[in-house]
Amino acid sequence: MSAATVEAKKTLRDGAFGHATALSCRECGHQIELGPHYACPECFGPLEIAYDFPEVTKAEIEAGPRNIWRYKALLPVPSDIEQSPNMEPGFTRLLKANNLGRELGIDNLWVKDDSTNPTNSFKDRVVACALSAARELDAKVFACPSTGNLANAVAAAGARAGIKTVVFIPSNLEQPKQVNSAIYTENLIAVEGNYDDVNKLASEIAGEEDGWAFVNVNVRPYYAEGSKTLGYEIAEQLGWRLPDQIVIPVASGSQLTKVDKAFQELIKLGLVEDKPYRVFGAQAEGCSPVSAAFKAGVDAIRPVKPDTIAKSLAIGNPADGIYVLDVCNRTGGAVEDVTDDQVRDAIVLLARTEGVFTETAGGTTVGVLKKLVETGQLDTSLETVVINTGHGLKTLDAISDRVGARATIAPSYDAFVAAKII
Ligand SMILES: *Cc1c(COP(=O)(O)O)cnc(C)c1O
Ligand SMILES: [Zn+2]
Repeated sequence: MSAATVEAKKTLRDGAFGHATALSCRECGHQIELGPHYACPECFGPLEIAYDFPEVTKAEIEAGPRNIWRYKALLPVPSDIEQSPNMEPGFTRLLKANNLGRELGIDNLWVKDDSTNPTNSFKDRVVACALSAARELDAKVFACPSTGNLANAVAAAGARAGIKTVVFIPSNLEQPKQVNSAIYTENLIAVEGNYDDVNKLASEIAGEEDGWAFVNVNVRPYYAEGSKTLGYEIAEQLGWRLPDQIVIPVASGSQLTKVDKAFQELIKLGLVEDKPYRVFGAQAEGCSPVSAAFKAGVDAIRPVKPDTIAKSLAIGNPADGIYVLDVCNRTGGAVEDVTDDQVRDAIVLLARTEGVFTETAGGTTVGVLKKLVETGQLDTSLETVVINTGHGLKTLDAISDRVGARATIAPSYDAFVAAKII
């Protein structure tokens, strides 16, 4: 186990992490002081942020900015967070998806469209929280191992914040995702290997080098809290109500577990009514270790070697996989997977029914939504939210042989008529 490597300032400033009080072990409950730590010193379990929340009202939140900082009282960030340059992500559209709902036979369906974040994926949310931690801990380098979108978000946020960035990706990553990082940083490093190899390398560097904040490694507890804002927003946008069912993509599993944490916090804070809800996880068949464990009814994840077009979900050894199983089992949900062809079909389906162009991760999620209906695992009479986490322009290759010009015609009315287009 590596030592903590972002050198904490001698004294953290007051309120550096807002109302967070400690880092708490998910496995044994042991608590340690806030800092650049991510593994329990007692049992090596993952650390999570513990809070002492103040009273928070709907009116206070609603009076806040139209980005994730409207929920800053519930995040490990200082109360003056809006003063520091950041990407101001969040408060993305919650779209009533009547056409897709009709197509799938779901009465009451919503798409939470996170593709409109500043770098076009939900990762801007988590990176904004990690950036705040990196700043408060006085990190010199802002870094990440990434399946693509995270590198885009880190590179952009670092540029805006004026902090040096280094982002590591698998060398076989889609070209648009490479350009979308390299445009913001000189330090895009392609590693010969898959994400799990890149992640291992990052942990090694974090253990050796001082002053590096790896957003999803040594400041992961702070990073992960950013995903809660998806849950808060969905509830607020539904009129301070929880949905009955929600379908969420699973890579490391962090996002899914944090949306659930957000719902639980809203209930505890009295901001929504306590009611049952079911959480469903979505994976691609070519990288489905969590789905496989769910279906086998076991509580351990067997790592796999990813082979899927859903590269942003291609984590073969997901850090939060076992906690995804906990959430889906506890809430009466499920984890499902779909083939790459079903992913492509679902990308086209979402675009043609709702005008939303998603990447392969969203294709996976919408594909799983469809499969859950077909297999009777989802109750089509209940209010359902599906999360679109990324943008289709980053994975054009996935569907470029499915869609294109229907006809190429001469610029004349006769040619138009001859082509029998309508
Ligand atoms: C990273 C990512 C996810 C999943 O994130 P985890 O929190 O690691 O499960 C989902 N969708 C997209 C587009 C992503 O980039
Ligand atoms: Zn522990």
